[in-house]
Amino acid sequence: MHIGFIGLGNMGAPMALNLLKAGHQLSVFDLSASSVAALVEAGARSAASVAELARRTPEVIISMLPAAQHVKGVYLGDAGLLAHVAPGVLLIDSSTIDPMSAREVSALALTQGNRMLDAPVSGGTGGAAAGTLTFMVGGAAADFDAALPVLQAMGRNIVHCGPSGNGQVAKVANNMLLAISMIGTAEAMNLGVSLGMDAKVLAGVLNSSSGRCWSSDTYNPYPGVMEGVPAARGYSGGFGSNLMLKDLGLATTAAQQAGQPVPMGALAQQLYQTFSRQGNGHLDFSAIIKLCNGEIE
Ligand code: NAD
Repeated sequence: MHIGFIGLGNMGAPMALNLLKAGHQLSVFDLSASSVAALVEAGARSAASVAELARRTPEVIISMLPAAQHVKGVYLGDAGLLAHVAPGVLLIDSSTIDPMSAREVSALALTQGNRMLDAPVSGGTGGAAAGTLTFMVGGAAADFDAALPVLQAMGRNIVHCGPSGNGQVAKVANNMLLAISMIGTAEAMNLGVSLGMDAKVLAGVLNSSSGRCWSSDTYNPYPGVMEGVPAARGYSGGFGSNLMLKDLGLATTAAQQAGQPVPMGALAQQLYQTFSRQGNGHLDFSAIIKLCNGEIE
């Protein structure tokens, strides 16, 4: 299948490589010439602009961009995708953006005869490279079925979450819960250790008790408890605190639009805002344990 791919960053590049590995023909565009060159070397064809990529009439076009402003910039306006793409092409935006923006762009695509899915991912850069991402997909069921073989080349769990925007809804709800559970785990670990418990023993108890969660048993933030996690390497790599802050901003903004109180999510957003402001945004999000501990660098 001929697929167009726009946005070849930390996530987009390995996802595009997996499409090539699966035997798809790929046309790519990114503002960064070096990102494009790496994909061309792997077998993709570069396009000089979004419009040129659209005019090559790939059957599917996937975008993986930083934020809603970039998605709107790529899809809308005279030079945008929607102005140049042929009717019937299936558009898939995998960027993490707010559900309202996803619904707005998708509605415009539908009015001109295109099909569009929002399909944000979880699994990070490791999952993107391994082709094991989870895709949370919003849009029509028939379009989900059409996208499935393409998404399966990049991911393992592909879930239809309902109509347009619902992929983004699932994504922001999950990441808000992840932030809250990480802060809770950090607090519990700090409390236990400061009261005299060994961190590993405490983690063992939590992980076989009702406090168990992914943040405690798979990604424990306390140094020395687990190997192979960011806490074991000075909180480098992993999922950056600034990216978590972005997702918490999306969650709290969406909550405001829906009139839905999310006090724990709002507090988590403020804690990550503080942590970022202190210059720690590049550290993995589990490093928030330093803030919970009053240990500020
Ligand atoms: P990134 O900043 O590494 O890559 C974004 C790419 O988009 C860059 O190569 C940039 O040049 C390109 N770009 C920006 N504006 C463009 C435009 N107008 N036209 C063409 N290309 C343009 O970001 P990333 O880490 O790949 O993340 C992409 C999305 O995936 C974000 O929405 C992010 O929240 C989400 N996400 C990231 C992770 C992660 O671990 N990095 C995990 C899950 C979801």
